Amino acid sequence: MHIVHVSAELAPYAKVGGLGEALFGLLTSFKTLGQDLTVIIPKYRLIPEKHLSTFKKECTIIVDEDRHSYENTIWSSTVSGYKVVLIEPTHPKSYFDRDHVYGYEDDLFRFLYFSKVALQYLSLQDGSIDILHLHDWHTSLMAPLYKDTYSKMGSFIKKIVLNIHNLAFQGFCKPWDLERFGIDGYYYLQENRMLDDQNKENLNLLKGGLNYSDGIVVVSKNYAKEILKQENGFGLHNTLIAQEQKINGILNGIDTTFWNPQNDPYISFHYDHSMKGKNIQQQKEKNKQVLQKRLNLSNSSLPLISYVGRLTEQKGLKLIESALHFAQEKQYQFIILGSASEEKVTNHFKELKEKLKDNKNIHLHLGYDESLAHELYSSSDFLIIPSLFEPCGLVQMIALRYGTIPIARKTGGLADTVFDVDDLAIALDKRNGYTFNEFTESALNLAISRALDTLQNNPKKHLSIISTGIQIDFSWDLATKHYLALYQRLLKEKI
Ligand code: ADP
Repeated sequence: MHIVHVSAELAPYAKVGGLGEALFGLLTSFKTLGQDLTVIIPKYRLIPEKHLSTFKKECTIIVDEDRHSYENTIWSSTVSGYKVVLIEPTHPKSYFDRDHVYGYEDDLFRFLYFSKVALQYLSLQDGSIDILHLHDWHTSLMAPLYKDTYSKMGSFIKKIVLNIHNLAFQGFCKPWDLERFGIDGYYYLQENRMLDDQNKENLNLLKGGLNYSDGIVVVSKNYAKEILKQENGFGLHNTLIAQEQKINGILNGIDTTFWNPQNDPYISFHYDHSMKGKNIQQQKEKNKQVLQKRLNLSNSSLPLISYVGRLTEQKGLKLIESALHFAQEKQYQFIILGSASEEKVTNHFKELKEKLKDNKNIHLHLGYDESLAHELYSSSDFLIIPSLFEPCGLVQMIALRYGTIPIARKTGGLADTVFDVDDLAIALDKRNGYTFNEFTESALNLAISRALDTLQNNPKKHLSIISTGIQIDFSWDLATKHYLALYQRLLKEKI
């Protein structure tokens, strides 16, 4: 099967969050099945030089924007069993020659341009593609553009799959934004094409992807159900309901080679699932001491709770902050590792950091730090994940693999992976963390209190929760089977 992924992110080249990591995990797992895999991403300036040494210039693709023609260099390399293609535009706006992956005023144009070059490149390849697999709004345009335009000149793609990693971002634009790329934008102002469900003057790229793809994947079963409701559908619930028969909920996995407490190069004291809970806890405790020293925290045996993730509304900003204040009342150490894309959020957390700079039990690290993330997973007792919504969530799975007990809000993929230790309706051997329903400070505080209480007063139960969590298989094997079955089913369908 020839499968081509097109994405804005791919670890380790360009990873902002779950998308880049999930795609990397999926590709790594899929290559063991002997499939012919290609992945196309932009050639961002931020891709570390060390990853580029094997890339060779493959060809040049000309693409028009605003009646000008621009040349794009296509770089490719076969890395770890799959072909990686990097698109480097020669464009006056330096679309990808910038410091970050996202967050620019012209993100819409950057990714429309990227989608067009990627499709143009694929149309010039020999042989046909079985599955074109698109990810999020950034590449959604490729589905309508292929079906309405490119396929008319001769078909070269059998089926298109669209993955929704985050429904909150949809790529709104106006018809004339597409006209700029030689696409009839007004043609798409229709319900069954790309007309936005809320604003009847807008086009919605993600909606185009939903309508035109043959299969849709949402990254957890629970989130696949949640988004059909008005309150969770980000304005697209009607389209999603209309396309429900195409939707598949497939839970992401994690890369268990990269995330492995047995030989993780970022951590000092290793451990694994075959060890007794007590021994795991001892190793984690030693990692905690290393971390306390490194971050200049007090060398105490207080419980350590962490947060790792983006600092955005989605992740429950107000609850993350409340856990920080609760730490002072409840006597636990608390570490936040997070980066914000909004300046006001960054400034707010910078102020908090300044205020707490003398506090020896609280540490805020603002920015992206892979090494610190591994150290936190390997030394924390608990990880809070108080998300407002969460399509899948990887951090809870990573935490569990590192014997760190998640305290998570019961939403989206978190509800599919974290099961409350006190919920009698759930089989005992599945219960692996603490959950809460309401998006409130008091609900989170109660869950934290229960977790601390068990750690301090019922160590046997605490250790058995660690053991349950660390045994869970979160590898990509299961997800890969589901993706393969989906591809095979789609390829059997006539239209
Ligand atoms: P999302 O995709 O919504 O950002 P996920 O839970 O799916 O959230 O994935 C987040 C991934 O990014 C995890 O691997 C997590 O360890 C990593 N991560 C997030 N923020 C940071 C950070 N500031 N430093 C290091 N790693 C981070």
